[in-house]
Amino acid sequence: MKRLISPRCVVLLAFAALAGGCALPRRAEVAEVLDEIDRARLGEHLRELCSLGPRPIEDERATARAVAWLRGELEALGLSVGEEDVPVTVPGSTLTAELRPIEGGDGTSQVRYPGFYARYGARVMESIARGLRAEGREVQGFSLATEGPPTRVTAPNLLVEFEGTSGRAGVLELSAHYDSVPGAPGGSDDGSGVAALLEIARALARRPPPRTVRLCFFAGEEAGLLGSAVHVAHLLERGEDETLLGLLDLDSVGWCRHEPNTQDAPARIPLVTWMPSTGDFVAVIGDWSSGGLGNAFEDAADTYIPELPYYSANRIGGWFADARRSDHARYWDAGIPAILLTDTGDFRSDAYHRPEDTPEGVDLEFLEGVTRATLAATLEIAR
Ligand SMILES: [Zn+2]
Repeated sequence: MKRLISPRCVVLLAFAALAGGCALPRRAEVAEVLDEIDRARLGEHLRELCSLGPRPIEDERATARAVAWLRGELEALGLSVGEEDVPVTVPGSTLTAELRPIEGGDGTSQVRYPGFYARYGARVMESIARGLRAEGREVQGFSLATEGPPTRVTAPNLLVEFEGTSGRAGVLELSAHYDSVPGAPGGSDDGSGVAALLEIARALARRPPPRTVRLCFFAGEEAGLLGSAVHVAHLLERGEDETLLGLLDLDSVGWCRHEPNTQDAPARIPLVTWMPSTGDFVAVIGDWSSGGLGNAFEDAADTYIPELPYYSANRIGGWFADARRSDHARYWDAGIPAILLTDTGDFRSDAYHRPEDTPEGVDLEFLEGVTRATLAATLEIAR
């Protein structure tokens, strides 16, 4: 049993009881499709994407490299790939690190970076400073200067659709984001989610689901959930939110720790939420109206991947600001059911948003488990 059964969790159990949570019969045809998911191939996808380097949405060349690779992978499966343009404003500014040499380091006094780096917060700046220190230069401070007008660039969301074979209405969406913050190769965040979706694409290309499934590779998640904002606006425009069964968002599903005291929590509230202190689970985060979707994922995980621990923050996620930090939040805001599946990012790993977020830091066994559970849930929900 993977849900924490402690006195603290009676409320969660009460939720589960309210919402059903009956055991799901194991279907041989689903189990067979799950075997398409290959751990070694997950690792290959991850290494290939990360080898292209950091890919913030403002960096057009980096984005083009990532998109060409992703498109190539999908087209090699015989899939046709749709695009949605995601615009972003790039400030016409420069970020300057003022330096002094330490112990025989070189005498350079300044290093300049694109001004948009500043948008990405303290971890990115700290990583720059650490990198320079390793080269024998100490950062005295950063300054940001405007040097020209802002420019506008666009990056695509890539969309792939598997048309349902049953003719029944309803579309299930799955998402991951392919961008990363400056300086970070984005191994777990979110190369892991992209790799998972590519393996799921391979499986669905062979065995189309009964109802339509759409995979969304979002742009610009790190710059403020930009790709999902564009996509959800399109869904609402087309009235497609009505037929949407929901979204399963995979953001950072690669870090796993088996030692005790390896897991922090945004909040631990007795009788409401008590995240385990060993970081070996995937968190299932849903808001109140996404409870059915969260139950469906957890039931599928129980039935098909019983060895995968998960922590249920199903239904209660909407109460915590930290639970809104990925693309699923755009769906919540539009009233569309969505759950986030995550290793919890910086609550589990110091590599979060840093150059250390490499493919080597990703636990492929864990990633495989999450990918299989997501595919199982997909096939059960899109029945
Ligand atoms: Zn992310």
